[in-house]
Amino acid sequence: MNRNFAELIEQKKSGGELSEEEISWWIDGLVSGSIPDYQTSAMLMAIYFRGMNAHETSWLTHCISTSGDVIDLSSLKGVKCDKHSSGGVADTVSIPLIAIAASCGAVMPKMSGRGLGHSGGTIDKLESIPGFDVNLTPLAFMEIVNRLGGAIMAQTGDVAVADKKLYALRDVTATVDSVPLIASSIMGKKLASGADVIVLDVKWGSGAFMSSESEAIELAKTMVGIGEDNGKTTVAYVTDMNEPLGNAVGNALEIVEAVQVLKGHGPAKLVDVILTLCDEILMQSGIVQKREDARTMAMNAIANGNALQRFADIVRAQGGDPAFIDRPEVLPQAAVRLPVYAPRSGFVTSIDAKGIGLAAMHLGAGRRTKEDVIDLAVGLVLDVKTGDTVTATHQIATVYARTDDDARTCEQEILGAIVVGQAPVPRWQTVVAKISRADGVVTYERS
Ligand code: URA
Ligand code: CA
Repeated sequence: MNRNFAELIEQKKSGGELSEEEISWWIDGLVSGSIPDYQTSAMLMAIYFRGMNAHETSWLTHCISTSGDVIDLSSLKGVKCDKHSSGGVADTVSIPLIAIAASCGAVMPKMSGRGLGHSGGTIDKLESIPGFDVNLTPLAFMEIVNRLGGAIMAQTGDVAVADKKLYALRDVTATVDSVPLIASSIMGKKLASGADVIVLDVKWGSGAFMSSESEAIELAKTMVGIGEDNGKTTVAYVTDMNEPLGNAVGNALEIVEAVQVLKGHGPAKLVDVILTLCDEILMQSGIVQKREDARTMAMNAIANGNALQRFADIVRAQGGDPAFIDRPEVLPQAAVRLPVYAPRSGFVTSIDAKGIGLAAMHLGAGRRTKEDVIDLAVGLVLDVKTGDTVTATHQIATVYARTDDDARTCEQEILGAIVVGQAPVPRWQTVVAKISRADGVVTYERS
């Protein structure tokens, strides 16, 4: 293009629209290095303040998705489904979901990421299973998905390379929390991963990117629009992340919780999100027509042990030893366990998801920066949810730590994140809204 990139920054800065050609020029230049990081940084800030319309956002996403390898899933039989969570605390959804949906006939080739900050990542959790290989060759990945209906591998660094550069610059220029930038970042990777159907779990609340329900609905609408514009069936659910979703926070501890879900005794909110997403996957795959039928099928797969068996088969196929399913003590174990008690009698009025996620991160369960090394054994397990009644002798959590000092520090952080008040409060509504292009926004009544 026969113009200086500064003119393009000026155009966005003054509220103008960027054409497809101009966005392509930017992303190509970012990847090749011909546009320097300081100009991209300025463009990101201009987008942060001026936003992007639906067409610009879809095109930016297309450019991100084709900036690196695009995964070819054509050797897989059936409707390929992907699931993505916008990130949260005690968000052990993907692992049991894939086992349940695969055991019901869905096809789930999942590429996942690692945790960062207060929010966990599926790949880290799986690495706490002895022998489990997250770095499959594409051939091995396809073979397992064709045979078992599901496999989970680490997303390689060669997918959506523009996103890595953009994310690193957003992180240091205070431009992470922009709807078009988050939506294009997430959907750029999803489009490159090659599935036919994308089911999104967009969180709202203290432990999420979006701090209000309406912002989360806005982000979800944007992502559904991008997916549909790019030829993918895309459905989003907006779910609560004000309090941790499940009970366990920490990698091996979350694997134990995943097994509990598959054995039929997972925490109610976590199970609610897993089954809601599973319903959608079974419907979008054409396995069932009605949500009630999907729900019955998934519940049967849990009750008759098929979902758990499928999980064991996937673990074995990926080199893991499924012994942990009946003997959780073979997973990494923390040296110190400390019970935490309620500070007083009353009602649990809030459990700050971000505070709990950071408490686990400080123990070593999560990363402050991408380079941090994590401890798979440590973390915490909560025994209460918002709305519960507690007495002063009531155990509200257990800390799993390396040292007594770490455990005591974590205890204080947990007590700082859980408010016990004198007035009863309602429970958080788990699934708030469903967004699809066909039905628009369907908000759910509080049940
Ligand atoms: N997750 C991503 O992958 N990108 C974002 O920008 C935010 C969350
Ligand atoms: Ca997850």
